[in-house]
Amino acid sequence: MSIKYSRAEWEAKATSLSFRTQAFIDGAYVNAASGKTFGCISPIDGQCRAQIAECDAEDVGRAVKASRRAFESGVWSETSPVHRKKTLLKFAQLLEKHAEELALLESIDMGKPVADALAIDVAASVRCLSWTAEAIDKVNGEIAPTPRHELGLITREPLGVVAAIVPWNFPLLMASWKFAPALAMGNSVILKPSEKSPLSAIRIAELAIEAGIPPGVFNVLPGFGKAAGEPLALHMDVDGLVFTGSTGVGKHLLQCAGQSNMKRAYMECGGKSPNVVFADAPDLPAAAEAAAIGIFFNQGEVCTAASRLLVERSIKDDFVKLVVEAGKNLHPKHPFEPGAPMGAIVDEGQMLRVLSYIEKGKSEGGRLVLGGERVMTESGGYYVAPTVFDDVAPEMTISKEEIFGPVLSVIAFDDEKEALRIANDTDFGLAAGVWTSNLSRGHRMAKKLRAGSVWVNCWDGGDMTAPFGGFKQSGNGRDKSLHAFEKYTELKATWINLES
Ligand code: NAD
Repeated sequence: MSIKYSRAEWEAKATSLSFRTQAFIDGAYVNAASGKTFGCISPIDGQCRAQIAECDAEDVGRAVKASRRAFESGVWSETSPVHRKKTLLKFAQLLEKHAEELALLESIDMGKPVADALAIDVAASVRCLSWTAEAIDKVNGEIAPTPRHELGLITREPLGVVAAIVPWNFPLLMASWKFAPALAMGNSVILKPSEKSPLSAIRIAELAIEAGIPPGVFNVLPGFGKAAGEPLALHMDVDGLVFTGSTGVGKHLLQCAGQSNMKRAYMECGGKSPNVVFADAPDLPAAAEAAAIGIFFNQGEVCTAASRLLVERSIKDDFVKLVVEAGKNLHPKHPFEPGAPMGAIVDEGQMLRVLSYIEKGKSEGGRLVLGGERVMTESGGYYVAPTVFDDVAPEMTISKEEIFGPVLSVIAFDDEKEALRIANDTDFGLAAGVWTSNLSRGHRMAKKLRAGSVWVNCWDGGDMTAPFGGFKQSGNGRDKSLHAFEKYTELKATWINLES
């Protein structure tokens, strides 16, 4: 899925798009029970593109009932693994068939370059769904080592009704990481996309039906967190709650699970990832390029953004110059522009939040060496220049809090011990990077860094075969890989007496 179109061609395609705007419950598009809607504003130009159904507790009740009914009927939950595999492969093929449309929806909804949406978001969603589907009929249960007169079976069974609450930074991909393994294991799913990016989730609901997923098994409830997300988290008949989003909301949802029916609850939350560059890194220009892309890709709105750059003091000044040069080439452009390295920030509120962190960085003593301002204001959209602060102290706010925007904090260190101390001095633990030619040091650091993913001489490595998730307040549970199935199943031990 490579870039094929000019900006004018993408614009023509966008003009001819029609948006699905309703909730999807029990196999049909429906208005919110209240009849309420909210505006879907594109950050590309600040224009409202559609009115979306604003779901609340009543819609949650309807969706949970439909999901439960579908689950208990066995129309999906009791089908053979090979049937679910074939159906989900068809679903993946349909996503691929509509890849350009889905990429446009992502770009219009949350501002990322449409070429990235096509080559990364949609492609990775297709891969997630097809990889997961392929795995369904290859995972065996276990047999316990019993005496001859007994048989101990250890099997996995679906949870039942799973609610998935997802963010806006990779709307379709974050949703796929949840609904693919949930459906694979036979659950019914209620997907609540972010109010900032509901379009792709709503659209794929009808593709799920076309693929052969029965009504009630895959439902989509657009709406706000408090009104549509919280009733799901508190519902007594939802068996599993999976979430990707901020740490604050994740903590709150764990409480909702405890306060209600102790539903299985797995949270994938924020990050403040350290990218540690030693003077003996094998290729400093390549490391600098990766450091810049690591923070500026997707406008910095990435949970694993390389937001803290720790550089050995002896090379720090030269290395920062290389990062700044790389950053200059990553200025935002209109998201339909071929080769746009960055697009728009998701909405005005998030842009103002990013700008306020930039002000804080300046007032707390960071040295601004690139960017630092809103750009392309004439577009009516929300764009921020790639921004680099040098001479950041580990205790400054911009070095501690997740900004979720294109803002890099550079921190100097003197030796491995200090690098490790600063890198791990955070509430988060999602990802970390190390650049060194010293094999032993690479391994030493990888062992000691408290993060769910560690990348050595690269940034953002991994694919569907490896689990993804966080240590500490970056969350619990893991998305992707066979480990994801653990979140969507209960383990059952069946012990059989074989004596006559
Ligand atoms: P957010 O927490 O504001 O919202 C995420 C989702 O939760 C949205 O659908 C929102 O409507 C819903 N929500 C908000 N308040 C709620 C409430 N009280 N009850 C129920 N639902 C509620 O996060 P965001 O701004 O959409 O996304 C950015 C965050 O996501 C960042 O912190 C980022 O690091 C994190 N993220 C993490 C991962 C990961 O895999 N660890 C991946 C992507 C993004």
